[in-house]
Amino acid sequence: MSNVLIVYAHPEPKSLNGSLKDFAVETLQAAGHAVKVSDLYGMKWKAVVDAEDFPSRKDPDRLIVNRESNHAFSSKTLTPDVVAEQEKLRWADAVIFQFPLWWFSMPAIMKGWVDRVYSRGFAYGLGETGISIRYGEGGLKGRRSMISITVGGKDAHYSDRGINGSFDDLLFHIQHGMLFYPGMDVVEPFVVYESVRLTDEQYKTYQEAFKARLAGLFDETPYAYRAQRGGDYDANLRLRPGLEDAATGTNIHKARA
Ligand SMILES: Cc1cc2nc3c(=O)[nH]c(=O)nc-3n(C[C@H](O)[C@H](O)[C@H](O)COP(=O)(O)OP(=O)(O)OC[C@H]3O[C@@H](n4cnc5c(N)ncnc54)[C@H](O)[C@@H]3O)c2cc1C
Repeated sequence: MSNVLIVYAHPEPKSLNGSLKDFAVETLQAAGHAVKVSDLYGMKWKAVVDAEDFPSRKDPDRLIVNRESNHAFSSKTLTPDVVAEQEKLRWADAVIFQFPLWWFSMPAIMKGWVDRVYSRGFAYGLGETGISIRYGEGGLKGRRSMISITVGGKDAHYSDRGINGSFDDLLFHIQHGMLFYPGMDVVEPFVVYESVRLTDEQYKTYQEAFKARLAGLFDETPYAYRAQRGGDYDANLRLRPGLEDAATGTNIHKARA
């Protein structure tokens, strides 16, 4: 059995997101997995990066965040809250991000979790050759990840021609930029549409679908995102011509299944 970390962002425990988080914990534990939850509002997570994050500065005169992030990580002077989250990530075999879509992205507190926990040297960095270790090769390689999200809009609004843009494009900055970038495999998101008006009956239907996705968490085929050093990109990290087949938009960064 495996270890699963749920990073959860909602200010109300009785919310739909709170119910889905509780349901995920129960379901995964019933299947024999060990589960830890980072309840960001409950923990009163500090959402912004600032000088307080680096109590032992390399350069006390001017804060350059990625340099201090790297220095604090390598000199073991990160703040205890960040160290604790990094320990949870090391422990996890899979990571689930549970959140409501707010302004086409994650709530600020969750973005702040990524900003602060993904220290340079921990989640990403420079390899021996000076090439960035990222996109399939970062510090979280070997783990899988899934977004579980609730949205106000209808399914059609997020379809290929929908006014909100497709979910593949909309979630690209999270799935490719925050999950795959530090090396995690990414499976399809679990999405609850029209969540604002969700009835109890509809909730039960979504619960069943979520249960099936959680049961397959470790078996589903992840997105075939192309690795930075897999040969598909040129020296300027542009996808080599012709490899996209019929794909458009951000989907050109997935290899054909
Ligand atoms: C700042 C902000 C920005 C937003 N931006 C976007 C956007 O860009 N795109 C978009 O599509 N939407 C957007 N929305 C809508 C947002 O995505 C939804 O409000 C959110 O997903 C609903 O999730 P919740 O957990 O807050 O639901 P809640 O408000 O807690 O509940 C939603 C409904 O689910 C019902 N429900 C049914 N069963 C249960 C159960 N078992 N437990 C709890 N509740 C249940 C509740 O009764 C309620 O009617 C935004 C909302 C806000 C506040």
